[in-house]
Amino acid sequence: MRPRIAVVGSGVGGLTLAAALAASGTRCEVFEQTRSMTEVGAGVQLAPNAARHLRRLGLQDVLRERAVAVEEMRVYGWEGGPIAATPFGAACEKLYGAPYYAVHRADLQGALLRLVGAAPLRLGHRLRTVCQEDADVVLTFADGTTHRADVVVGADGIHSVVRESLVRDSPVFSGLGVFRGLVPVERLPAPAREPLIRMWLGPGRHFVCYPVAGGRLMSFAAIAPLADAGTESWSAAGDPAELVAAFDGWRGLVPDITRAADTVRRWALYDRPELHTWSAGRITVLGDAAHPMLPFMAQGANQAVEDAVELASLLAGARRDEVPELLARYEKARAPRTAAIQRGSRGHSDTMHLPDGPRQRERDAAMHRSAGLTGLRERAWLYGHEAGATTAPVRAPGGPGSSRGRPPPAGQTDGTG
Ligand SMILES: Cc1cc2nc3c(=O)[nH]c(=O)nc-3n(C[C@H](O)[C@H](O)[C@H](O)COP(=O)(O)OP(=O)(O)OC[C@H]3O[C@@H](n4cnc5c(N)ncnc54)[C@H](O)[C@@H]3O)c2cc1C
Repeated sequence: MRPRIAVVGSGVGGLTLAAALAASGTRCEVFEQTRSMTEVGAGVQLAPNAARHLRRLGLQDVLRERAVAVEEMRVYGWEGGPIAATPFGAACEKLYGAPYYAVHRADLQGALLRLVGAAPLRLGHRLRTVCQEDADVVLTFADGTTHRADVVVGADGIHSVVRESLVRDSPVFSGLGVFRGLVPVERLPAPAREPLIRMWLGPGRHFVCYPVAGGRLMSFAAIAPLADAGTESWSAAGDPAELVAAFDGWRGLVPDITRAADTVRRWALYDRPELHTWSAGRITVLGDAAHPMLPFMAQGANQAVEDAVELASLLAGARRDEVPELLARYEKARAPRTAAIQRGSRGHSDTMHLPDGPRQRERDAAMHRSAGLTGLRERAWLYGHEAGATTAPVRAPGGPGSSRGRPPPAGQTDGTG
């Protein structure tokens, strides 16, 4: 008998899982707390480790038309001096089988929703508790209704209710906040149109920007210290004047973008401790519910896609009685790699924000050395990883599937998404 699969949460992780299951002819139902599907106005970087899978699932055309294939990532000091440049473009495609994309979150969400189809998505279902009863898992929602399933996947984000059934822990405040927003590129100087990810590093803060929406909008993320840990909502309004003040004196496109931003959102950045047990019986977690990370490697959504592909490859065509064993295999495949990326992202929080001085100069020199094509090749452990390969032979070193759970080399900085 095939298991009844319930997915909680329809973010990038939950929707990719539903799409990957649908592609293998496996049914699931997705329960989402919000009543309508709207995405926050911001960009997301899709590295080849996720883009490869999204293209295979059918997003090839959307990514070509609506996303921006990034040619290069350039890193500067806050005063505008160049530190490092890493080529993506054709080199990424050649080495890792897909471009490095920058995409508007709404475009990605819309495309995933079209793949899933409306049928399995149950909006307005806020999960309150999840528990195993006899052979079933029982989901109870805020409106008192219940649903029974044979396997429950918590893709319900950093405040996951499903995670609470596995472990007692809390989000950890980083001391940092992010201003996010989008600016029409026609309001910016001509170089803003180039398909580049640009990042400026300074004491205690950094600024990242890249074009999205077919190049029409510039997405930015500006990281700076935040005293108030309470602001966690992605829709919390920020003050454009505070953004301008926080990056006063910075060079490059930073002043152009901060002054052109009419609307900004601002929230606090959190992660959680590593999760050592991802599953209990027929319950498991995925994406931010499993490994919420600081955004400093731009990998949270990419890892959610990898989780989804791995789990779908295990659950596709599975029998009901195989579920606990398959969830154990899923955890074994995913936990070491995502924990290494969580740690790497935390580590970047220090190295990216060094005060001007000898350590900063050492960092810049290390970043310079590990940039270029060599730097791109050194990212084989990250971009070359082939999720879903637990059911397939591991490939040759250097190619997709070559490494699991390796930490980022010193000097490699991937930047906030
Ligand atoms: C500033 C910033 C920049 C980033 N940039 C990048 C980037 O460039 N690249 C990248 O890969 N990652 C990036 N990330 C991380 C990425 O956004 C997240 O890792 C990713 O969105 C997580 O997806 P998810 O599906 O696991 O969770 P979420 O997107 O949080 O989705 C969870 C879903 O579950 C629903 N839900 C929650 N609770 C319940 C409940 N009780 N019942 C029912 N439904 C529920 C929510 O409404 C939501 O729809 C960035 C993060 C930040 C903060």
